[in-house]
Amino acid sequence: MATVKLPDGTALELADGASGADAAAAIGPRLAKDALAVKVDGELRDLTTPLPDGSEIRIVTARSEGEDAADALWLVRHDAAHVMATAVCELWPGTRVSIGPPIESGFYYDFEFPEGTRPTEADLERIEERMRAHIEADEPFERSELEAAQAVERFQGEDQPYKVELIEDLVRDEGVRRVSLYRNGPFTDLCRGPHAPSTGRIKAFKLSSIAGAYWRGDERRQMLTRIYGTAFHSRAELEHHLERLEQARASDHRRLGPELDLFMFRPEAPGMPFWLPQGTVLLRLIEREVREQLVRRGYVEIKTPQVLDEELWHRSGHWENYRENMFFVEPAEREGDERRFALKPMNCPGACLMFASGRHSYRELPLRLAEFGHVSRYEREGVLHGLLRVRAFTQDDAHVYCTLEQIADEVDSICEAIDELYARFGFDDVRVELSTRPEKSVGTDEQWESAERGLREALERQGREFELSPGEGTFYGPKIDFHVTDALGRTWQLGTCQLDFQMPERFELSFQGADNAEHRPVMIHRALLGSLERFAGILIEHHGGRFPVWLAPTQAAILPVADRHLDYARTVAGELEGAGIRVRVDERSESVGRKIRDAELAKLPFMLVVGEREQAEGVVSVRSHTEGDRGQVSSAALAALFD
Ligand SMILES: [Zn+2]
Ligand SMILES: [Zn+2]
Repeated sequence: MATVKLPDGTALELADGASGADAAAAIGPRLAKDALAVKVDGELRDLTTPLPDGSEIRIVTARSEGEDAADALWLVRHDAAHVMATAVCELWPGTRVSIGPPIESGFYYDFEFPEGTRPTEADLERIEERMRAHIEADEPFERSELEAAQAVERFQGEDQPYKVELIEDLVRDEGVRRVSLYRNGPFTDLCRGPHAPSTGRIKAFKLSSIAGAYWRGDERRQMLTRIYGTAFHSRAELEHHLERLEQARASDHRRLGPELDLFMFRPEAPGMPFWLPQGTVLLRLIEREVREQLVRRGYVEIKTPQVLDEELWHRSGHWENYRENMFFVEPAEREGDERRFALKPMNCPGACLMFASGRHSYRELPLRLAEFGHVSRYEREGVLHGLLRVRAFTQDDAHVYCTLEQIADEVDSICEAIDELYARFGFDDVRVELSTRPEKSVGTDEQWESAERGLREALERQGREFELSPGEGTFYGPKIDFHVTDALGRTWQLGTCQLDFQMPERFELSFQGADNAEHRPVMIHRALLGSLERFAGILIEHHGGRFPVWLAPTQAAILPVADRHLDYARTVAGELEGAGIRVRVDERSESVGRKIRDAELAKLPFMLVVGEREQAEGVVSVRSHTEGDRGQVSSAALAALFD
């Protein structure tokens, strides 16, 4: 007999050598039917695996929760990758297969197709059809093991050189002697597993795209064809996922940016956005909200130079720890000037120079220096992504110089500012993360300990829930990061609050205490939104380009029915502008229907139509995107619409 322990703590007696499937059957027929795999002492295994005596087991099904739910999805996606390879090999005999793992949003498989054949996305449906046949046939996944040498021979015989290479590497790098194969229907793959019992467990799947991918990600190796897909436990879950994808596509800021005249990119400046007039207004509006927090919380605003002596970056520690992300500049005509300069990747050293240039009394602390600082960071071209990953951006940065005792109050105030600001922009769900000392860091153990303790205590004092991220701090100190969830359910890191004992040392900062002696201040780096540009990108996607009235760069278009109403339209525009409302008059000689359509496409909150009647009565006809026609409003009462 073997005894295993179930999740609720009860013991289950099984025959010696009993498998996960036997355990599921012993618990109940429903579970036996639903079981996909078994967790044995925390490890995901095939249902056929014999259970060791005394092990703790959990049966994984499509209805599992938490970590097991992720494993259940992983399983069917892995199954689906194998089934896709099965279909592809049938449709294109002679195809060489390489690897096909599940990934976060689905799965892929990389193939080398025979000379002269190259499937396109138009072929995806054919592949899906084949896959469906194999899924309906409910073919079991059968595991077998054999000697590595035998496996090499087998795959050589089948002209599958990628599999051969994988086995040879396993033998060389991991000392593997035996490998496992999984067969489903006519297809056998080299695979560690595990798999669900049979192909019929794939309840819903969809192939999405085809892309090129180098074998082993190495550009000197063979270019393979990667086919992406996804799989779920139910049709409804798949539909929901596809809807989300469609929504994401429709609200992609990279598409909406040029469409709504917000921003553009040019090959002359990779990763550096050009802000068009509408986008520049959006940036100003974001900045205005941040500035309100600065005023309310006793910050003063400064501006420091963009280009600073390279020596400064040695002193700050950036040279050692951040050089690969920096742009260096030198004058064309040196004339004996050997100094090299760098574009600032961060604003802190500039702020420290400013602090260091004067004498400070303890009475001035905390000294809170805020800067909308334009920073430049070198990122590889491959990782650039619209506004979300750029090489130049504006940080809503600030550096607070204070005493140890003042840290907690400052952190409180920063957290409060973040709550208020995020709520203003419609993000109510804020997740907090505390990151501790990374591998590459400066400073002593004592400094790190007390900095980490300082942040933790501040959070605990506020009664905030937070997650711990070991090793994810900056090189100069631990930090608290703030994340929000957008309309599409994605999370974004925005604000940060970082404690730093190092930079005050390096810049020999001091203030005169009540005891008349010189003391070293602590420095807090904080940003509420992080990067204004990136935040603008997130806002564009969050709202799908259709901003709330207060945030819309243009809040209304005034649409004259005919040219003879233009003067009246301009008068109305003048009145609204006088009240601080952002409007534009559509002066084109187009039909009013066309003007309405274009204003709709521009996603403007309001359209104000003015024709004969409106002009005679001193009113406008209001159309709003959300509520359609809202009737006539006197021009005097109009401004109230925009509150
Ligand atoms: Zn596999
Ligand atoms: Zn800083």
